[in-house]
Amino acid sequence: MDSGFSPEEGLRYSRQLILEKVGWPGQERLRAGRVLVVGAGGLGSAALFYLAAAGVGHLGLVDGDAVELSNLQRQILHRLADLGRRKVDSAREALTRLNPHCRVETFDLRLTAENVPGVVRGFDVVLDAGDNFPTRVALAEGCWREGKILVSAAVQDFSGHLMVIDPGRGTPCYRCLLPEPPPPDPGGPPLGILGAVAGVMGCLQAVETIKLLLGLPSDLATRLLAYDGLRSRFQVMDRLKTPECPLCGASGGNRQP
Ligand SMILES: [Zn+2]
Repeated sequence: MDSGFSPEEGLRYSRQLILEKVGWPGQERLRAGRVLVVGAGGLGSAALFYLAAAGVGHLGLVDGDAVELSNLQRQILHRLADLGRRKVDSAREALTRLNPHCRVETFDLRLTAENVPGVVRGFDVVLDAGDNFPTRVALAEGCWREGKILVSAAVQDFSGHLMVIDPGRGTPCYRCLLPEPPPPDPGGPPLGILGAVAGVMGCLQAVETIKLLLGLPSDLATRLLAYDGLRSRFQVMDRLKTPECPLCGASGGNRQP
């Protein structure tokens, strides 16, 4: 036993403690980790369950919605009995029931360009697990300016993608992929999504986050992983830094040191 972990924790984490790349030092790093997950939906449900199960000590959770019946097809943190409850409350309860050693901090709000810096400041790694394009851009820009590592995933129908943006390493930023400002939210009917595909991508977010907390390199800091569930394929593509990028480029004015 080590560093104040209880025998119960030793047993709970035993199958990852025997991993050479985890062990007690790694478990301490996970316990000291502070991870913010933006969105308690399909992606966030899978990511949060595995982060809590692995023993990440402090989980932040941002969501401004209540649980609806149409969420249950993919948002596995929430149950039928949770309908109408705030998602952050339902999620906190599910995570604490799984692992009471995790402290779960909740933010019952919608992120905007104005409130992103204050919310992300206390965390080491931020997961974009949202479903709303303008919010994604506001979060990505805020994380870049605050120097926070962002693990960004998105899903639609049978496919998804994942990337890691690490301002400290000067990797390509979100706006390198998306130089034009985001269009206003068009509204309209929601996009279709297979729940299990959100689960796949949320699990991959958890894997990358755990690696980052353990101090292991993420190959996705300079690449984009795309999953095609219909063809049962993963593809990895290089991401390039755009010299004229409005956020991290020479003229952006917001370069991270
Ligand atoms: Zn950029």
